[in-house]
Amino acid sequence: MATTNGNLHHRHADCGSPSSCGRAWHLRRKMPKSTGENNRVRSRNPNIFWPLTTVAIVLHLVAVFVVFFLCKDVFGVANWSKFLFPASYCTGNEQRLEISAVVEEEISVSSTSGSIPNSMDSIINLDHGDPTMYEKFWKQAGNAAELIIPGAQTMSYFSDVTNLCWFLEPLFATEVRRLHRLVGNAVIGPDSYIIVGTGSSQLFQAALFALSTSPEVFGGGGGRPLPVVSSVPYYSSYPAATDLLQSALFRWAGDVSSLEKDDDDPYIEVVCSPSNPDGLIKAASIRSSNQNVIHDLAYYWPQYTAITAPANHNLMLFTASKCTGHAGMRLGWAIVKNKDVAKRMMKFIEISTIGVSKDSQLRAAKILKTVSDHYELEAVEDFTKLFHFGGKTMRDRWEKLRAAVAASDAFSLPVFQPEYCNFMKENTLPSPAFAWLKCERDIDDCENFLRQNHKILTRSGKHFGADAKHVRVSMLDRVETFDMFIERLLSIDL
Ligand code: PMP
Repeated sequence: MATTNGNLHHRHADCGSPSSCGRAWHLRRKMPKSTGENNRVRSRNPNIFWPLTTVAIVLHLVAVFVVFFLCKDVFGVANWSKFLFPASYCTGNEQRLEISAVVEEEISVSSTSGSIPNSMDSIINLDHGDPTMYEKFWKQAGNAAELIIPGAQTMSYFSDVTNLCWFLEPLFATEVRRLHRLVGNAVIGPDSYIIVGTGSSQLFQAALFALSTSPEVFGGGGGRPLPVVSSVPYYSSYPAATDLLQSALFRWAGDVSSLEKDDDDPYIEVVCSPSNPDGLIKAASIRSSNQNVIHDLAYYWPQYTAITAPANHNLMLFTASKCTGHAGMRLGWAIVKNKDVAKRMMKFIEISTIGVSKDSQLRAAKILKTVSDHYELEAVEDFTKLFHFGGKTMRDRWEKLRAAVAASDAFSLPVFQPEYCNFMKENTLPSPAFAWLKCERDIDDCENFLRQNHKILTRSGKHFGADAKHVRVSMLDRVETFDMFIERLLSIDL
């Protein structure tokens, strides 16, 4: 027991100083000489102990500084400062990596996240892009996508050691290739690499690491963190994910147009197309060397936009979250052309999570297989075809939203043009996963207006590098939530 004399002495022998040990230190000095334990403690005479400790600390500090000054000439001051002061070695305004960027995350969980509003005056939460709209489809699909994993399966870390991505389940890779072939939205050449990730969120971080540590960039960046840019409005998670660890390798630099036109220092550009939040098709800026672009194609699927050509970029990211609606499975994949970039992405995933859940990969394989089977193998009803279900649902929702917006002059929406979709074999209008809604008239803070006055939670344009007159509204929620949102919009009378 801690209150017995012996244990009390033993504990106090570990204290750092008389002051930190307080009253107990004082008590110990008064203990009568009795047991061996007491003798051991008493033999540490505090009169000698503290001067000796102080001398040892001073000598240690001197040794550290001598080693530092000897080695700084060998490695260069820039490199040293990078490792000693990773968050603060940039110059000027760069010195303070904005903590606010880290705080403004995509997922800001509240008590209404993921729930269905159950009364006419409930809070309607359309802040996240939670793809619960797809639950209806997968309920209709019955047990076609069901998977049972026996206890002895998926136990090893390794999936296929002959593959560069040794944690990639071959079945999952097969279904990824098959789905892209079916939809025609991406080229996976024989020399391309598929890297699986815990959501495309992990792959985004892996890509930043891989691109910022390439020998060309690492040498040419002048020892400064590589700027990461995207065109406004950009996906609100990019700044937070880039600056989360305040890396010395890269830092968020905002809008691509903020880069000096005649500056040819390297940078990384993220292109999200169709764009979260505004649904527009985007391309890399003219200045971007193709080597350093991350193409986030989370929404390049036929339910959201016309598939006009197979995307064929150096580094493309996809996610099950927005393709099939299985956000909770946490599975994404990257298609990478350059072997060294692929290897460095692998390194990131190996070190951060030693691979990616095999259970999720097997489940994803089954789900993607179900999607492809329903198109390729059977003559089935359109409602069992995922992209037809998704396309129709999104089209209906956009029609309802446009009608509600047109009913007052309080809001406006982007205008889209139809394009021929090679997959649907018809002209289709974009039906983005988010509505980029603008408050008109004298409403300057649209997010605040909708939240305070109408209990509708949306995401302010400020988080996307844009203005507060815009908000992003998820179009992917359950039907009950979406319909209630439309009713509430219609009731707004300015
Ligand atoms: N990129 C974009 C553009 C997204 O909208 C999202 C999800 N909101 C992601 C990436 C992240 O997807 P995941 O769930 O696979 O991490």
